[in-house]
Amino acid sequence: MRLANADGRAAFLVDGRVHDVATMSGGALPSDPMAVLAGHWSEAAALWTQGTTGAGIAVEDADLRAPVPRPGAVFAVGLNYHRHAEETRAEVPELPAIFTKFPPSINGPFGDVVLPPDEDTVDYEAELAFVIGRGGRHIREGDALDHVAGYLAAQDISCRRVQRAAGNQFSMGKSFDSFCPLGPAVVSLDELADPLDLRITCRVSGEELQDSRTSDLIRNVPELVAFLSSVLSLQSGDVCLTGTPAGVGVARTPPRFLRDGDVIETEIEGVGALRNRCVAG
Ligand code: ZN
Repeated sequence: MRLANADGRAAFLVDGRVHDVATMSGGALPSDPMAVLAGHWSEAAALWTQGTTGAGIAVEDADLRAPVPRPGAVFAVGLNYHRHAEETRAEVPELPAIFTKFPPSINGPFGDVVLPPDEDTVDYEAELAFVIGRGGRHIREGDALDHVAGYLAAQDISCRRVQRAAGNQFSMGKSFDSFCPLGPAVVSLDELADPLDLRITCRVSGEELQDSRTSDLIRNVPELVAFLSSVLSLQSGDVCLTGTPAGVGVARTPPRFLRDGDVIETEIEGVGALRNRCVAG
């Protein structure tokens, strides 16, 4: 299943067109994407397997928003690919380096990224994100993927100056409004040949700057679900960005920070692509 958010309503994404879930279900399913995630996921999946009816709307003509618009928590992981840890000259920590991107930072798959005025160290980070379907506490690694509703492509846009000036507290530098593009749809894991090995790329204004595979994650999705749920109760709709591979702007010589007019293209194999333009705030 590929569950998108078209104009605030849950919609199936099929071949570049969106189909309204509540309409297709004859009103049996809610229109709120969070409600579908939280309580109607298996019914939506059943509807998906029946196939879409009607023409739907082309993605270009729909207002595609973040498929998970109001998560209770947005976790993110620092230093979770070996080569990225090397390029930042940081030690891989003993436990996953979790921080948060506060929910107001959430942006749609094609929304503008607003560069804060007077900040010239805003950076891109292509990331695989997952969203929790069934919550829980003390989830075992072997059971973890059963708790994941699906995957999204994500950008962990980061203002390096604020990130660094706040000591080791990353969250504010990564939580400016618009700094968390997500989408284009929540893709259930049965759509993917191997959910633990997907190509991940990032291009900025046509230049490929990141190209890796999620099999290179230091802590993969099951380990992250197990770790997070060892600390706190995961809830349906919680999102986790799993970290970025090598190639970020700050680690380049010279650094490559985002500028007004840049277009960031983030793609996860089998999951989909984000396209976000940078605009001066
Ligand atoms: Zn990141």
